Amino acid sequence: MTAKIIDGTALAQRLRTEFAARAQALAVQGHRPGLTVVIAGDNPASQVYVRNKIKACAEAAFDSRHVAFAQDVSTATLLAEVARLNADPKVHGILVQLPLPPQVDAAAVTAAIAPHKDVDGFLAVNLGALVTGHAEFVPCTPAGVMEMLRSEGIPIEGRHAVVIGRSNIVGKPMALLLLQAGATVTICHSKTVDLPALTRQADILVAAVGRANFVTADMVKPGACVIDVGINRLTEGEKAGKLAGDVDFAAVREVAGWITPVPGGVGPMTIAMLLANTLKATLKAIQKADPT
Ligand code: NDP
Repeated sequence: MTAKIIDGTALAQRLRTEFAARAQALAVQGHRPGLTVVIAGDNPASQVYVRNKIKACAEAAFDSRHVAFAQDVSTATLLAEVARLNADPKVHGILVQLPLPPQVDAAAVTAAIAPHKDVDGFLAVNLGALVTGHAEFVPCTPAGVMEMLRSEGIPIEGRHAVVIGRSNIVGKPMALLLLQAGATVTICHSKTVDLPALTRQADILVAAVGRANFVTADMVKPGACVIDVGINRLTEGEKAGKLAGDVDFAAVREVAGWITPVPGGVGPMTIAMLLANTLKATLKAIQKADPT
């Protein structure tokens, strides 16, 4: 079997076109969705991520800005900036790009974002709401994965989903969303014993590990849907400098029923979901200002 490739770039583009039309309709009424990204330091990967997010927002006619701070920025300065953005009615969504420089209390800075502007969905209050099934903002990467599954009509209810990774921003919310959609979910991590025995049971396998080629063909059930969240920069061999996912794409493609590529899979969907959350935050702000 050769797996069907789920084209995240194409799906994200369709969604972004739809969001752009909705943003333009809001702009006509005097409301422009606004996202501000706060970045500190000179992490090259962060610079690329922020550039891509700002570009996608600008293309959808959102008011997208970024505020950059030097590597030696203090926690107090970033807290003051977040407070300023919280109070600015033109800013509907705030995103603090991680990682922050080591001297900064990253947990304090991200926790200071107003919950109704937490378009990343990382605040404890938003993650807690996800547990109860009433999330306002779902973290963008797992939300994007769910869109991909739905767009392909991949059955979820009653299926066994295995998520490798238990981070607060990918693995755990991913597992909760799959659970909500009716899957039986197994969460695996670095302490899991006999990981391949579990992954081989998966109808839906999500890899969010951060290790290139971690999922090999012998770990995959024939016909399964394999979602590769990983983004790894290769350092050795002829592909040095290139991006790779967590899945051995060429080999797994011959076993799986569906597979997402890296790049061009989950990454573009993450950005599309950031736009979706910013749009949602804007609509909520409009409604709060004028409940009629
Ligand atoms: P984390 O490092 O926070 O989490 C990685 C998880 O993988 C941990 O739960 C860890 O287990 C688990 N793990 C590590 N080694 C093993 C192993 N040998 N066997 C089983 N599990 C293992 O990473 P993130 O969740 O933040 O990100 C995961 C990947 O997704 C990264 O490559 C990241 O770059 C990418 N990413 C991609 C995005 C996108 O838009 N496509 C967005 C966000 C992230 P333990 O908890 O026990 O340590």
